[in-house]
Amino acid sequence: MTLIDDLLELNLVERQLRGLKSRVDSAQIYCRAQKRQMNDLEQRHEELETRRKQRQVTINGHETDTAAIDERLTKLREDLNSAANTKQYSTVLEEINTLKSTKSGTDDLILNELSDIEALDVDLEAVKSEMKERQTVLDSAEKELQEREAEIADRVAELQTERDVKASVIPASALSTYDQCADDFDGDAMAPIEEIDKRRREYSCSSCNLNMPFNIVVQLMTGADSLTQCENCLRILYITPEMKAEAVAK
Ligand SMILES: [Zn+2]
Repeated sequence: MTLIDDLLELNLVERQLRGLKSRVDSAQIYCRAQKRQMNDLEQRHEELETRRKQRQVTINGHETDTAAIDERLTKLREDLNSAANTKQYSTVLEEINTLKSTKSGTDDLILNELSDIEALDVDLEAVKSEMKERQTVLDSAEKELQEREAEIADRVAELQTERDVKASVIPASALSTYDQCADDFDGDAMAPIEEIDKRRREYSCSSCNLNMPFNIVVQLMTGADSLTQCENCLRILYITPEMKAEAVAK
């Protein structure tokens, strides 16, 4: 077995493995999309809750101010009743009126905040109901994904073991080149040389049709223990057993 033979065997298992895994890909993509949407909703919910809390803090502040004003007003009303003269009376009355107007302003501010909170509550309810719907969709998407994964789990484990065995005989640097190609081209890592015109020594990469100089073909025929990648599409090039047999027969 040459290095290329070993790689071709590995490639066969790799492709089966990827084909099988691709069956769960769509379920995985769908599931991820649902999760992303759920995260967006959770974020929106959190934002609304934070804004609601901020409004409540502002209201609490205003209420503290109002309580202080009320206390002062009670005291002033007593002073008003016990005013010794008109001047004193009107001074106290003036402060009462100022405080009353301040209080009315604060009451307006509180009402504004309350109406903001009401609007936020409407938004919060809408987000909550959207989250509930999304959760139902997400649950069924996750269930579907688990089912599909379970369907292929045994076969994937078998193939994975087989792949490990096939990979174990391949030198590390060649394996790393192969793995890179397999990842980059979704399992389509290797390409046979195609004979276009034998007499004129015209050959090409069967994956991208790039013309191959004859010396590369000769190199592939003989030195099977080093890898040659297509300059254009980067597939690992090889000579098919048929071509090799033909060359030997000649
Ligand atoms: Zn190519």
